[in-house]
Amino acid sequence: MVHKTDIEIARAADKKPIQEVGARLGIGADDLLPYGHDKAKVTAGFIAGLADRPQGKLVLVTAINPTPAGEGKTTTTVGLGDGLSRIGKKTAICIREASLGPCFGMKGGAAGGGHAQVVPMEEMNLHFTGDFHAITSAHNLLAALIDNHIHWGNALGIDQRRVAWRRVMDMNDRALRDIVCSLGGVANGFPRETGFDITVASEVMAILCLASDLSDLERRLGDIIVGYTRERAPVTARDLKAEGAMTVLLKDALQPNLVQTLEHTPAFVHGGPFANIAHGCNSVIATTTALRLADYVVTEAGFGADLGAEKFMNIKCRKAGLSPAAVVVVATIKALKMNGGVAKDALGAEDVAAVEKGCANLGRHIENVKSFGVPAVVAINHFAGDTEAEIAAVKAYAAGQGSEAILCTHWAEGGAGAEALAERVVALAEADHHGFAPLYPDEMGLFQKIETIAKRIYRADAVLADKKIRDQLHAWEDAGYGDLPICMAKTQYSFSTDPNLRGAPTGHSVPVREVRLAAGAGFVVVICGEIMTMPGLPRVPSAEAIGLNDLGQVEGLF
Ligand code: ADP
Ligand code: MG
Repeated sequence: MVHKTDIEIARAADKKPIQEVGARLGIGADDLLPYGHDKAKVTAGFIAGLADRPQGKLVLVTAINPTPAGEGKTTTTVGLGDGLSRIGKKTAICIREASLGPCFGMKGGAAGGGHAQVVPMEEMNLHFTGDFHAITSAHNLLAALIDNHIHWGNALGIDQRRVAWRRVMDMNDRALRDIVCSLGGVANGFPRETGFDITVASEVMAILCLASDLSDLERRLGDIIVGYTRERAPVTARDLKAEGAMTVLLKDALQPNLVQTLEHTPAFVHGGPFANIAHGCNSVIATTTALRLADYVVTEAGFGADLGAEKFMNIKCRKAGLSPAAVVVVATIKALKMNGGVAKDALGAEDVAAVEKGCANLGRHIENVKSFGVPAVVAINHFAGDTEAEIAAVKAYAAGQGSEAILCTHWAEGGAGAEALAERVVALAEADHHGFAPLYPDEMGLFQKIETIAKRIYRADAVLADKKIRDQLHAWEDAGYGDLPICMAKTQYSFSTDPNLRGAPTGHSVPVREVRLAAGAGFVVVICGEIMTMPGLPRVPSAEAIGLNDLGQVEGLF
């Protein structure tokens, strides 16, 4: 059977006007700010009026440690959303917006795939409603204000060697990773080393995604630490009087975007923080708005469950007062094989023994999810080459773990292929466990929080950190930042910090290379291993295949 490409399927979609999609959730036409016919922002005024409404059930889609291609979390989020709609539940999905970097770099969009997609996918993958441009502008306004302040006499005494705020743009461009700015003479300021990160790595992005409303956004922007004085005292965006203008630039971007799936389930697509140095989920505003309008809200967290689900629970749910009702752990036969030790180029052949071996990875993720007090179900995201014996092996393993693995065919068949999963999710969510609790309390020491994650989630023996790093954590505790949660940044390919250590490793240790305080976002970033905040393009970027056809339509976008 010849499958259509994602863009062919998306283009053939029979889209409803966005007002009809909004009406499914009770959003009136006046409460939508349309961006064309098939996209709209939901107004801040409407959202403010929902504050007292009860919330629906929140379902998180996460995954086992993946292959580089991704295991289909977004695709499953969309498929499950459509599956829930099909069995009569009032459902919305919440996912992240796309960055242009991966769009023009490696093939693979952010709108799901096959018959489980959000539309319009071209626009969602390109400029969409301009949120990322607004975030980029707000971030770079602050950067300009810093250098301008230094240029005009530096009344705050910012140490030019300790400016911590870089610039951003939404493109993979390794040439800008490290630069010298202010060259060219007296009129251009004081030369110093700096660099660019990609927009999704901006703290402004994380802030937009964690803010509860405009005034919380403004307060958080003011809290950003832009650098230090020679006496090592922090200088904030508030000291530069930057937060007001930044908030103005972000006021539209803070309103969540509404679109639809191929089967017309309302989809909030809003915000897109990195899953490594940030928490990797769509905005709190989108999620809480969806929960007040729908009975079921399906959302996704980036990377495998060791990073994505952990940060979703310990950062987003803790801070936003959310309590997930169920978790779906996505597994694919190829990722299980890879976790079972099979090389990347040999994942196509049937290998039941490797699948069984790789199930150890799945088992640990299930156990971890349950340790948050939330029930878990496994979704086997079916790929064309999977064999019956391999699928049977996963089902048997999950059953042995007191869980259940359900074969899902939403990529090929749309929501109908995820109905069984939807039924199971409803059964778990209606059972009302009410057992959710984050892994550690706010008042635990910062280093102890890191150890708790490393031992309980990664099953490491120890966390290795220099005295310099421990002293830094103590200094932040003394400065009043001790109650912040931890944002771990490590490889997504392993429970450990070694991407080649597959399966369910034990006996490893977690070396901490660097810690960073994101005072505005409200977390301490703990960097374990090399983390790239400005990716590069591959040898053959997907940009080479993207263009317009004779009808003026976008081609080559997945
Ligand atoms: P994640 O969110 O986990 O990164 P995605 O849902 O974005 O993964 O899927 C990654 C890629 O894999 C997409 O290009 C998608 O179209 C493709 N994909 C997902 N599920 C399937 C499937 N069952 N069969 C074939 N391709 C799939
Ligand atoms: Mg995804």
